[in-house]
Amino acid sequence: MASIGFIGLGNMGGPMAANLVKAGHHVTGFDLSAAAIEDARTAGCSIADSAVETATDKDVVVTMLPAGKHVVAVYDEIKNSVRADSLMIDSSTIDISSAQQAHAIADSVGALSVDAPVSGGIMGAVNGTLTFMAGGTEAALEAAAPVLEPMAGRVVNCGGATAGQAAKVCNNMILAITMIGTTEAFELGRRLGLTDQALFDVVSTASGQSWSTTTYCPVPGPVPTSPANNDYKPGFAADLMLKDLGLSQEAASMTNAFTPLGAHANQLYKEFCDEGNGGVDFSGIIKMMQVPKKD
Ligand code: NAD
Repeated sequence: MASIGFIGLGNMGGPMAANLVKAGHHVTGFDLSAAAIEDARTAGCSIADSAVETATDKDVVVTMLPAGKHVVAVYDEIKNSVRADSLMIDSSTIDISSAQQAHAIADSVGALSVDAPVSGGIMGAVNGTLTFMAGGTEAALEAAAPVLEPMAGRVVNCGGATAGQAAKVCNNMILAITMIGTTEAFELGRRLGLTDQALFDVVSTASGQSWSTTTYCPVPGPVPTSPANNDYKPGFAADLMLKDLGLSQEAASMTNAFTPLGAHANQLYKEFCDEGNGGVDFSGIIKMMQVPKKD
C-alpha cells in the first residue's frame, strides 16, 4: 500500500481521499478549509499542517484544486519536498498551459507526473466511479493506474502530458453544446404540441440521441434521476460548466481551432450565470429557451 499526500479535500477531493483510505492506502491530507480538514480526518486521513508537509516523503502526491493557478502555486511550493521517485497526479480541471507547467515542475525534480482530470461529479467521487482522463509518459501512466483504481469506474489513458486535460475540455464542450441543443428541441417540441415523453421516446433511440437526453434529460419525467426532477439542483452547476467552457475556448485560441458552437455555448452559459443561475444545474439552461423569443 502506498503513502499518499492529498492536497485539496473539497467536494471532490474529500471523497476521493476517503476512497484511497478505504482501499488501505495511508493518506495524509491538507486543505485551507477547516471544515474540509475535519471531514477528511473523520474519513481516516492523517492531517498535515502544510502542503509541503503533505508532500514530504510520499510515494504519491495527488492534487484536487480549483484552477490552474492553484495547481502551479502548490507544485512550486512542494517541488523541493517531493521524493525524486515519487508520482504527482493532478486531478483538477485546469488550463492546458498550467498543466504543461505542472508537468515541467515535476520533471525538474525527477518525479513522474500525470494529469488526470475526472468526470462523474460528486456522486462519482463518493462512489469511486469517476472516469479519469490521464496524460503522461507510459511509466507515469503505469504507476498511476493502481492509485487511481479505488477512485475510478474507468481510467482512459489519453496520451502524453496534458492529453487528459485536452480530453476533458473537448468532452465538456460537446456536453454543453448537446445540452443546449437538447433544451432547444424539447422547448420547440412543446410549442409544436409534442409531449416531453413522446419526444424523449423518439430522440433517445434516434439520430438525435446523446447523454444529454438519455441520462440527463433536461425536462422532468422521462429520466427520473435527472436534476430536472429536482428543481434543477446540481448535479453539475452551471458555473462549473462555464469554467470548463472557458478552458476549452482558451485551448481553442492557443491552437487556433475554429469552435463557433463552443464559443456560443460559452456566451450562453455566461449570460445564464450572470443572471444569478451559477448554482443551478447546467441543464437548467432550458429556462433560457422558455421565455418568449426576443426579436
Ligand atoms: P472545491 O472548491 O469543493 O474544492 C477545492 C478545495 O481546494 C477547497 O476545499 C479549497 O479550500 C482547496 N484549496 C484551494 N487552494 C488550496 C491550497 N493552496 N492548498 C490546499 N487546499 C487548497 O472544488 P471541487 O468541486 O472539489 O473541484 C475540484 C476540481 O475538480 C476543480 O478543478 C473542478 O473543476 C474539478 N471538477 C469538479 C467537479 C464537480 O462536480 N464538483 C466535477 C469534475 C471536476
